[in-house]
Amino acid sequence: MAGFFGGVHPNDRKALTSEKAIEPLPAPRQVVIPMSMHIGAPCAPLVKKGDSVTVGQKIGETTGLGVPVHASVSGTVVAVEPRPHPNGTNVMSVVIENDFQDTRCPDAVPPADPEALSGEELTRLIHEAGISGMGGATFPTDVKISSGLGKLDTIIVNAAECEPYITSDDRLLRETPERFIEGLKVLLKIFGLEKGYIGIEANKKTAISILKEQCPGEIEVRVLKTRYPQGAEKQLIQTITGRQVPPGGLPAAVGCGVFNAATCAAIYDAVYLGLPLVRRAVTVTGSAIRTPKNFLAPIGTPYTDLIAAADGFVSDPYKVLTGGPMMGIAQFDLSVPVIKGTNAITCFSQKDNQEVKNPHCIRCGRCVGVCPMHLMPLYLYQAERKDNIDELNARNIGDCIECGSCAYICPARIPLVQSFKNAKAKVRAAAAKKG
Ligand code: SF4
Ligand code: SF4
Repeated sequence: MAGFFGGVHPNDRKALTSEKAIEPLPAPRQVVIPMSMHIGAPCAPLVKKGDSVTVGQKIGETTGLGVPVHASVSGTVVAVEPRPHPNGTNVMSVVIENDFQDTRCPDAVPPADPEALSGEELTRLIHEAGISGMGGATFPTDVKISSGLGKLDTIIVNAAECEPYITSDDRLLRETPERFIEGLKVLLKIFGLEKGYIGIEANKKTAISILKEQCPGEIEVRVLKTRYPQGAEKQLIQTITGRQVPPGGLPAAVGCGVFNAATCAAIYDAVYLGLPLVRRAVTVTGSAIRTPKNFLAPIGTPYTDLIAAADGFVSDPYKVLTGGPMMGIAQFDLSVPVIKGTNAITCFSQKDNQEVKNPHCIRCGRCVGVCPMHLMPLYLYQAERKDNIDELNARNIGDCIECGSCAYICPARIPLVQSFKNAKAKVRAAAAKKG
């Protein structure tokens, strides 16, 4: 099996939750469901204050690129207004007071004969179920499918879950492997392909043996070396197929389509259970959490509810992240809700604070040796500090996947990923100015 360049071996700390079965979260009193949980245009709310809603009812319709939004609990809409979102902005949201009846929407029923559906009908169903990439990318799944039709010869389910601390996909694989397998079979049918792959890191031994036992002949389980960022799309494709996605290119350019493991399970739920994407598995973990756990949470559950269900903080956290320590996004308002791409909430206590005031690059070059995209992080960092847009472009800042390998290895503790996020924003602003 071909490998990929660079990468790091952080302590994965998955043992904190890897043996914790997914617990259904106690029903939240209120959910806050943003109209934007996908890449693309925000949805337009279909409900107003005072309306009654049921589980799986469509409450937001697409206005462009995107997928619809559904109610995750039954109850009464108490507000339709901007609310804090994990992306750090305020986003138009539907706030639902839970009636704890869990009444299912009469429209949320499975098709009479799922096996009889055509590829086109299945793709439409996936769109209507509101499915977008659940590994964090949140790209609308039906659009990914449509744009790959006729171009793909290889479908890969990304079950690598290489980010430290996170075990929500691992637990789903172990507890409901049939959902992944059937979800992948739906994708194979849509693309008219006979074989699919599941890429999974070697550290998930139980999941690997379950999948190897249960996968039919047309699905091959590929066990991958445990090395971060093995689960990044381009690195996964290279490891499994030996093909290299060109700089700036998409996986379809080399005939590959990569779908996250939880996304496949959501496809199964939509096709065989008639359930839109209204819940997801979330790992709540980190040194600041008293009892790290995995939960099945309705979309829209406030982080505070999940943290409380994990017995709260041991001490005041210095950092709370959506996602894991390598690629996670810092949160400053814990009232934000779980969205479709929230696979984990990772909370660190002060003892893990390794920030350095005024860090200086010592030109050791270690960041260059670990960058899986063959970039020169130290020069990108300097270019960002000098606002040198030409240099940032010349050094392919757009290829940075923000994996954090460089920041992890940097002995000077320079916040390189934050610098590269800023750099990309500067490049975009400069391009917009030019017109
Ligand atoms: S420069 Fe970007 S892609 Fe390369 S290691 Fe750093 S964060 Fe990852
Ligand atoms: S690892 Fe850090 S200190 Fe070393 S060259 Fe890269 S940015 Fe500079």
